[in-house]
Amino acid sequence: MALTVIQHPLAAHVLTHLRDQTTKPALFRTLCHQVTLLLALEATRDLATEEKTIETPLERTTGRILARPLVIVPILRAGLGMVEPFLDLFPDVSVGYVGLERNHATAIAHSYYCKLPPVAGRRVLIVDPMLATGGSAVQALDVVKAAGARELALVCIVAAPQGVALVEQRHPDVPVFLGALDRDLNARKYILPGLGDFGDRLYGT
Ligand code: URA
Repeated sequence: MALTVIQHPLAAHVLTHLRDQTTKPALFRTLCHQVTLLLALEATRDLATEEKTIETPLERTTGRILARPLVIVPILRAGLGMVEPFLDLFPDVSVGYVGLERNHATAIAHSYYCKLPPVAGRRVLIVDPMLATGGSAVQALDVVKAAGARELALVCIVAAPQGVALVEQRHPDVPVFLGALDRDLNARKYILPGLGDFGDRLYGT
């Protein structure tokens, strides 16, 4: 499995403020937007392009444009925080949704919603800010592959080694893009040092 942890001074800066427990939801959302822009650029570095001839005000020239529209699939609800930055960069992106909720006692995810656009023949990026045990990511990848997607990637802001290992074991063909790879999970399956519950911090719940 290809694992990329973005290396950029701005990513490090933003992640430190995201982790800070004194960061309020409004700033948290801005920081989430910023780090996702960096991740989105990294995860789409190899998108297919095709030639297009255009007229500049001075002469005809040939450039390149994106060959196929992109699909992103946020895992509800925390993944929603990563949708807007993708839309900023790729206005033609199609958005699907997979609703997976983690039982706080067992840390096992169950699916309560799934709505996907056509995915066959298109690059599909599954976005979820926290890759903890990997259970949700594996379930989402199962669902999206079952719908016909073959060209997939997983984009997360913070991951635990256990989550990366499970995705690697169950979906070795799927590249993973991270803002940070953290140390461990605690007994309640929260990432350490992590940043707490991403959805709660995003929405102030
Ligand atoms: N989900 C979160 O929001 N935070 C974690 O640390 C793990 C899963």
